[in-house]
Amino acid sequence: MIERQSWFRELYRVLLFLAVSLTIGYLLGYPLESFAVGLAFVVSLWLHQLWRIQKWLTSTETEPPDSFGIWGIIYDRIYLLQRRNREARGRLQSALDYMQDSMASMRDGVIMLDNSAAIEWCNSATGKLLGLRFPEDSGQHVLNLIRLPEFHDYFSNNDYSRALQVSVTGAMERHLRFEITHFGDGNRLVFVRDVTATVRLEQVRRDFVGNVSHELRTPLTVIKGYLETLIGSGGGLDERYQQALRQMDQQASRMESLLKDLLWLSRIESMDKEEKSELIDVAGLLEELKEELQSNFPEREIRFELLCKNPVQGDYRELHSAVSNLVYNALKYSEGGSPVTVRWLETAGESRLEVEDQGIGIDAMHIPRLTERFYRVDESRSSQTGGTGLGLAIVKHVAVSHDAELRIDSTRGKGSTFSLIFPRTQLPETATGTLP
Ligand code: ADP
Repeated sequence: MIERQSWFRELYRVLLFLAVSLTIGYLLGYPLESFAVGLAFVVSLWLHQLWRIQKWLTSTETEPPDSFGIWGIIYDRIYLLQRRNREARGRLQSALDYMQDSMASMRDGVIMLDNSAAIEWCNSATGKLLGLRFPEDSGQHVLNLIRLPEFHDYFSNNDYSRALQVSVTGAMERHLRFEITHFGDGNRLVFVRDVTATVRLEQVRRDFVGNVSHELRTPLTVIKGYLETLIGSGGGLDERYQQALRQMDQQASRMESLLKDLLWLSRIESMDKEEKSELIDVAGLLEELKEELQSNFPEREIRFELLCKNPVQGDYRELHSAVSNLVYNALKYSEGGSPVTVRWLETAGESRLEVEDQGIGIDAMHIPRLTERFYRVDESRSSQTGGTGLGLAIVKHVAVSHDAELRIDSTRGKGSTFSLIFPRTQLPETATGTLP
């Protein structure tokens, strides 16, 4: 409103000045010349004001020069905008400082990379973890400074859906976990965490389970041996004692298989991925399993459909134990008359091992927890069937260590299909093929 009024006032002032110039010119006999001089005066006044504005905007002075009328209002407006802008910049800067301060004080390492993977900023924790320094290292390509081959592959692969864990050997072995996220226009944020303590704790847990299971095996073998002798020579014993002995023997056998599974699980957990580089002929493995099953379960119908001959890179014993756990479960959790199908096929470039049964099936709510150790859908049925509760934990572990996925499709009362899906990368190009 004020702007509008001052604009009209300015217009009025200019028109009045021109009218006066015209009148004076008319009285002197040179109306046009006098009007032109007046107009030139107005234009030069405006040009002078514009020059003052430009001078003020390019100077370091913040306060606007004194002025009047519309020009004063223009100065005030610009000054107000400048002040708002300065305040917003200040607020933004303090938010940025706050963010950087909080990231700088993190115990995890944070590295900001620009779109050409050069370091823009990193916090002090990266110094301790990776030996980076800021600002000395800014502008350097990250791969020139982090020279771990695993990180190099992970970084260049551009697939950051999973974190990378690397062990760094030095005076003391350390374990680092890297996570990368994209942000902005091709920028990347690298998080580094020292997970040595967690890895060691996990190792201690694994060793403890492994050692306890191993230590318990010897006394159990002795107990079982005596029980078998007593049962074998139990002709003269009271029937009550004979039954107790048989139950003790049954429980001892259960304990034996439990220890066997626990030992196996701790063994496969501690096996390095590099050790699993054998090329396994899965079709051959299944043929072997078929013979074993036919002699153990002659009354059951077990179909084998070997539809491809893709090999898998991994460990023979682990794969064998995973598949046999799945097949034994399929037999355990279905009626004697219903068939079990084992399939080895290739779909959409992936090799797939399926074990299908038409048994009791599983409610959807249990499926996510099935691979937990000792998780059972029906405790009473599982103890009847003599399961240890570790079978699917073993299968899951074998799947993860072979970069495979364990998929469970099941309908209660209709049956289940357990699939192990091995990715294409697992298969050496030259060794794949489909059976005629
Ligand atoms: P268990 O030794 O009890 O069989 P697993 O880890 O092999 O332990 O399996 C965990 C649970 O998953 C089982 O107790 C059972 O309830 C369920 N389960 C596994 N396989 C099947 C299957 N093929 N059909 C129905 N339920 C199954």
